[in-house]
Amino acid sequence: MSTAEMPIAGSYDILIVGAGPAGSSAARAAAQKGAAVLMVDRRQRIGVPVQCAEFVPRAISSYVNFSSKCIAQTVETMITHLPDQRSYEMKSPGFMLDRSLFDKELAASAVLSGAEISMGTRAMKCSQEGVAIERGGKHEWVRAKVIIGADGVRSSVAQWAGLPPGRTTIALQYEVVLPHPQNHVDIYFHKDYEGGYAWFFPKGKTANVGIGVVSHRTSSLPNLMEGFLNRLIDLKKMGRIEIIGKTGGAIPCEKPRQTVFSNIMLAGDAAGHAHPITGAGILNAVIGGEMAGRIAVESLARGDLNHLWQYETEWREAFGASLSYGAFKRDFLEENWNKPEIDFESLIRKTWVGFKEYYEDRRKK
Ligand SMILES: Cc1cc2nc3c(=O)[nH]c(=O)nc-3n(C[C@H](O)[C@H](O)[C@H](O)COP(=O)(O)OP(=O)(O)OC[C@H]3O[C@@H](n4cnc5c(N)ncnc54)[C@H](O)[C@@H]3O)c2cc1C
Repeated sequence: MSTAEMPIAGSYDILIVGAGPAGSSAARAAAQKGAAVLMVDRRQRIGVPVQCAEFVPRAISSYVNFSSKCIAQTVETMITHLPDQRSYEMKSPGFMLDRSLFDKELAASAVLSGAEISMGTRAMKCSQEGVAIERGGKHEWVRAKVIIGADGVRSSVAQWAGLPPGRTTIALQYEVVLPHPQNHVDIYFHKDYEGGYAWFFPKGKTANVGIGVVSHRTSSLPNLMEGFLNRLIDLKKMGRIEIIGKTGGAIPCEKPRQTVFSNIMLAGDAAGHAHPITGAGILNAVIGGEMAGRIAVESLARGDLNHLWQYETEWREAFGASLSYGAFKRDFLEENWNKPEIDFESLIRKTWVGFKEYYEDRRKK
């Protein structure tokens, strides 16, 4: 079938591509204000497969409602381990989520607020006719006044808006059986984990064990993971290696980019809103998604798409400075990682959020 012959699936105020935390937060905010909202996701099931280490700061509860069933366990502190064997503990109150349930609850809230959802539906391209979608082998057009790209790190919508692929780190993660409960998260630095770090995040009877590195070191990840698991055994974190799940994926580590293009808005990872040093992106996806949905509706009510730029202003005010500073630290980290004259421990102290040295350049920026 030629694209001209494709049927129109429907006309909406707002089409949201992607039903992760950013998309569902946008859909809920827009539907609550009475807009006709369609949210599509190419996956068959919300939140599956999980591609996440599932840690969020406890402050997330101030921005989104979710049930206690989404919390696998609480966490009190973060211990950062440097290669010189020294460890540093800092307060880091947070939740280890059941991320698939969390995403499902957010999507359910959006639907209960009045949004329509269509799973197994891939957004293919954008033209004058609308957005071409493919579901169950059928190709259709969806008409929408505003399109919110919440379609994650490899966003098609960002590409339609003309953005080149963003810079990312790449992570590999295993879920392992955890013999002893613990109420802190562990972060490990090593010269081999180039531009990244390894983590051990407890989740009740299991733990998420992962390593993230700069993208050109992706092929080293399986070997690094084997070494890390053996190290965890030496550290008595686990008795033997019992892997019950494997996942991974790309994480944006970008300088803040433009997120409004005519009638297109980008939110969450599609907007590059994960922190360039830690890779944490769930909280910003929730905050930015809500802003995008709310401001899209305001713009339609005013009949003025220029008002969409208010979104760019609001997210920059809320977390733009932290992302810019993180991107500045990432450049410094990657430039210096392999320099033999640089003391590795000092480099990590200057570039990891768990050390006071991280914040020392902030006033100069
Ligand atoms: C290994 C790993 C560990 C991580 N650990 C943490 C952590 O511990 N804490 C934290 O805060 N962050 C973490 N992150 C980052 C976090 O997962 C993301 O920042 C977060 O998921 C962003 O939410 P989002 O809604 O923007 O995108 P996503 O959650 O990626 O959702 C995007 C959705 O868009 C859909 N989609 C994509 N393309 C299309 C299309 N063309 N048509 C229709 N649907 C489409 C996808 O199916 C997906 O459901 C981690 C990431 C990785 C990879």
